[in-house]
Amino acid sequence: MRYINIAHPEQDVNFAEALVLGLGHKQGLFFPERLEPFAAIQDLLDMDFVQRSTAILEYLVEPAMPVDELQASVTAAFNFPLQLKQVSDHVYAMELFHGPSLAFKDFGARFMAECLARISVEKRVTILTATSGDTGAAVAQAFFGQPGIEVVVLYPQGMVTPLQEKMFCTLGGNIRTIAIEDDFDACQKLVKQSFDDLQLVESIGLNSANSINVARLLAQVCYYFEAVARLPRGTEPVFCVPSGNFGNVTAGLLAHALGLPVKRMIAATNRNDTVPRFLASGRWDPKPTVATLTNAMDISLPNNFPRVLDLGDRHGLPLQNLLQSVAISDDETLDAVRLLDSQGYLSDPHSALAWKALSDELSVDETGVFMCTAHPAKFRETLEEALNRPVPLPDELLAVADKEVLSAVMPADFDLLRNFLLNN
Ligand SMILES: *Cc1c(COP(=O)(O)O)cnc(C)c1O
Repeated sequence: MRYINIAHPEQDVNFAEALVLGLGHKQGLFFPERLEPFAAIQDLLDMDFVQRSTAILEYLVEPAMPVDELQASVTAAFNFPLQLKQVSDHVYAMELFHGPSLAFKDFGARFMAECLARISVEKRVTILTATSGDTGAAVAQAFFGQPGIEVVVLYPQGMVTPLQEKMFCTLGGNIRTIAIEDDFDACQKLVKQSFDDLQLVESIGLNSANSINVARLLAQVCYYFEAVARLPRGTEPVFCVPSGNFGNVTAGLLAHALGLPVKRMIAATNRNDTVPRFLASGRWDPKPTVATLTNAMDISLPNNFPRVLDLGDRHGLPLQNLLQSVAISDDETLDAVRLLDSQGYLSDPHSALAWKALSDELSVDETGVFMCTAHPAKFRETLEEALNRPVPLPDELLAVADKEVLSAVMPADFDLLRNFLLNN
């Protein structure tokens, strides 16, 4: 598979280059050049998760990685369970949060880490990433102990929950974390400034691990196939995805472009509703980002959206019928948490928001799957307030609760960060 820079199609690279570069010329995103649907979908669906994921990814990464290496990467990256739970007659929860950081971002981050460790062995690699919570944990856990790879995670001091902080700031070793005395935007700006400093990029092998890296998206394609494989044979589901940067939705659409039966996709957002308004009016009119209960989706400039459009423009997906987007308020999200709980399903706010959007849009003759992106305990404070009862912590969170936070603290100053990166 070749990957083209969708903003500047004259740049085309293989998977290894797309993986290591992260971003193309002039901030363009890499995306598969041409997608053919798999011929024997049912045979693919009949395979087990690792075998099937290897087959799908082989098509997407060849010839950058020998298939035995790919299989080893998939086996190591996807070494935690997935669960599809029936919530009501035609509605299923696809739980993607049973990995080490308790969020679906483990799929992409772990696969990317495995690929990088195998592909760029001789070169020093420094992964620099900014996080508002979940990405930092997934990336830190995924790269922890990987030889030759240094990880630096920036996060806004005091603006991630104490448990979120414990999940990525207590590892040590090759994982370094910096609490920036400013907000998330300032962290993201420092990352961008670092990538603009070509001398810095070259000397420490700078790479990014956020969802602009196409490797993360490719990994996420695999769990859409798994969801359909677990549904009653012949089901063509409606997927509903809680969306921020629109990486997860892109992966679902990509799965469909590869032949996976999908009736349609619903991208559910919170009040940061640039995309629902765009699909309704045709106008791209982002507003300032507002804080909501579903903070992993507090994004008004979804950085994967050009890939969604590319799936329509160049790959010919009928987005008009296939993709729908709706915005859900905080009040509706809290109601959804309570309603789901009364039906015996405890859900984090992001997943509950998706369930609400799905319930609103699903017809009686359809089967719906909502993507559950985080473990409920990660958003324990919100749930305890909504439900008025304690939410127990799983072992992964209990294990880090008493560990010491090892982060450096730094003002949002690029020169200080530059020195830190060069001298550590
Ligand atoms: C990152 C995240 C999302 C948004 O996913 P995108 O791929 O950015 O659309 C939703 N829910 C949770 C819990 C997340 O961490």
